[in-house]
Amino acid sequence: MLLGDDGGLRPTIFAEMSALATSSGAINLGQGFPDEDGPTEVLEAARQAITDGFNQYPPGTGMPVLRNAISAHQQRFYGLTVDPDREVLVTAGATEALAATILALTEKGDEVVTLEPFYDAYGAIVGLAGATHVTVPMRAPLFQPDPDELRAAITDRTRLILINNPHNPTGSVLPRETLQLIVELATKHDALIVTDEVYEHLVFDAPHIPVATLPGARARTITISSAGKTFNTTGWKIGWLTAPHAIVSSIVAVKQFLTFVNGAPFQPAIAVGLALPDSFFTGIAATLGRKHDLLSSGLTDAGFAVTRAQGGYFVVADAAPLGYDDAEEFCRALPGLAGVVGVPISAFVRQGNRAEYRSLVRFAYCKRESVLEEAVARLGALAR
Ligand SMILES: *Cc1c(COP(=O)(O)O)cnc(C)c1O
Repeated sequence: MLLGDDGGLRPTIFAEMSALATSSGAINLGQGFPDEDGPTEVLEAARQAITDGFNQYPPGTGMPVLRNAISAHQQRFYGLTVDPDREVLVTAGATEALAATILALTEKGDEVVTLEPFYDAYGAIVGLAGATHVTVPMRAPLFQPDPDELRAAITDRTRLILINNPHNPTGSVLPRETLQLIVELATKHDALIVTDEVYEHLVFDAPHIPVATLPGARARTITISSAGKTFNTTGWKIGWLTAPHAIVSSIVAVKQFLTFVNGAPFQPAIAVGLALPDSFFTGIAATLGRKHDLLSSGLTDAGFAVTRAQGGYFVVADAAPLGYDDAEEFCRALPGLAGVVGVPISAFVRQGNRAEYRSLVRFAYCKRESVLEEAVARLGALAR
């Protein structure tokens, strides 16, 4: 089965690039997973939960201890009051939250508006739902959507506006004015907003602004997040969404037949993580920001034109100043040229729209500092 406008289910460039990294011994900055464990309290809590017998199916909406912790987290960081019993749903990662939401809330032919480039699952899930995918470009070098293009894309046919902030793959953060415009357009056209905020704690400049905190947004917003990126537990697949009760109920109706439930012993462990002191959360942002700066300055020194990331795991580098116009070709050659792997941004763009992203490469900096230092040293070969 092929999905999306150009077959979202074909073997991805990510698999190809990771295989290339393995076979060539190159440093893999293609895939966005951390190479270090997260907080020991969280890991220890999972071990303890297994010992304590939390090994059977948890409740369908998630264990109360985690739903309470998610609710307390929304209050503590954003001043949002969320009913832990009616407005929270624990999911198998943000991915299942996205899938269940889109499948539950769209009918065949409904339009789903996303920014472009977009996280690759979006296109595939919209395709699975039989909905129509409409995109608004985020162009280099700033990777911000144009307000008029947002106004043109969001119409009465729009059922969902799916945004991702901070943004993967570009590292951009949407300013408050853009979020406000999105809420305004959603209200005008009676669309729902789905906001993927998995990088909410990994912002480098200003505090994160959840869409749900904006005036008028709450009643039409489904907020999705995940423990993976915050606690370096991407393999645990504990995610969640918060939304008004009626919306949660329709999403649960789909979710029960996707995974039903997952990760029983990890749920209380993530509850421990969400209650860690503020210093943990400011610490992970500061550490990741330093890693960003290290890789970005190395890429700049190597001759790329780099757009500074404002959050998340990834930075975009333009290979055109180095004389490479085709990032796909360049990424295939890069392990041989410099012993490093990146991913072409075209992998996050639909076929017909790839031309203007042609020379752009995404690199992950969620790696140990020593790994990034070695990558930077190797990339120096491009400048010679
Ligand atoms: C990593 C990522 C996800 C997936 O999160 P999981 O919790 O692993 O399912 C979703 N959206 C974005 C933008 C991501 O980067």
